[in-house]
Amino acid sequence: MQLRVPGPTPCPPQALQAMGRQMVNHRGREFAGILNSVTTKLKQVFQTEGDVFILTSSGTGGLEAAVVNTLSPNDKVLAVSCGAFGERFGNIAEQYGARVKRLNFEWGKAVDPEAVNKALRADSDIKAVLVTHNETSTGITNSISEISSVVKGLGKLLIVDAISSLACIDLPVDKCHCDVVVTGSQKGWMVPPGVAMVSMSEEAWQAHAQAKMPRYYWDFTKAREYLLKGQTPWTPAVSICYALNSTLDLILSEGLVNVFARHARIAQMTREGIKSLGLTLFSEASHASNTVTAVSAFARKGEGDALKGYFAGEPQIDVPKLIQVLRDEYDMVVAPGQRKLSGKIFRIGHLGLVEESDIKMLLEALTGALPKARL
Ligand SMILES: *Cc1c(COP(=O)(O)O)cnc(C)c1O
Repeated sequence: MQLRVPGPTPCPPQALQAMGRQMVNHRGREFAGILNSVTTKLKQVFQTEGDVFILTSSGTGGLEAAVVNTLSPNDKVLAVSCGAFGERFGNIAEQYGARVKRLNFEWGKAVDPEAVNKALRADSDIKAVLVTHNETSTGITNSISEISSVVKGLGKLLIVDAISSLACIDLPVDKCHCDVVVTGSQKGWMVPPGVAMVSMSEEAWQAHAQAKMPRYYWDFTKAREYLLKGQTPWTPAVSICYALNSTLDLILSEGLVNVFARHARIAQMTREGIKSLGLTLFSEASHASNTVTAVSAFARKGEGDALKGYFAGEPQIDVPKLIQVLRDEYDMVVAPGQRKLSGKIFRIGHLGLVEESDIKMLLEALTGALPKARL
């Protein structure tokens, strides 16, 4: 089976083999060696000198940890969103009592840094900005460097969901002055779900010292204290750490620059292949993601902005049918649209373990499946 959803992603044999290894004592010397090795390599991929923690949870747990470790109830937060995951990030902060101001962009479009600038200048009480690097629900990659120059220029905390981009799309955490960056194991890291990874800048630690949101499992004071002993406060997902240790070696031996270039090349190939099948790309071309491609079920309305006339007319593809034919007849799994994009787009994941041949096979399967799902 070819799993081409934006997470979980396929795992290389090295990761699967590592997962089969016998347990060790998570408070012993052997695990400390593994944790230190994984942490050191993670910092290279995050491109940070700051702290990086491994949390036993899915990506969303990492987002929650980012919020509760840096904010207090009643803090004013700007939640910048261009899709389902951006909204979720704001919801988490709201649930913990932050006063969340929303800055929403049309789904399929990227975040406009100038609008962030205006929103921040209009309300000097805002303490932190929550933003998604790669919006998996729409296939958009936001420019964190541009957003960061606005946010950090005004001295706010910058908290980034990079769950579906880190290790695939260049995000130099320190160079971009990101205070907290969250990612998840089942996306670009080529290991199963179960671990979130979060970086903390010096400024994030200063915020942490004042942050009053309730936290126990997620408390980074404890995480830092235990990491010094080569441990995590609570029993970690030991097998995922084994696997991560092996895929980090793969990533670093390929070289970060080459990993990013491979994702860019394969994404380009995916987009061109989709267009040559007569289909329309859903997202704004200037910010098309290198890890996930969203394909519109609607016919193209002239060249240029793919979104123009997007909701006009009738869809030309029955998305659930297409997904079913791909799965049943071609053994390929792609993802549907989420929430308001349900039935309107489908999504192809091309992150982590992916090569040109995988996309070639998928495009061939699509060529066969499309006539059966035409409306
Ligand atoms: C997958 C994803 C999440 C959620 O991660 P879970 O592991 O399902 O909790 C959040 N944000 C983005 C951008 C994602 O791609």
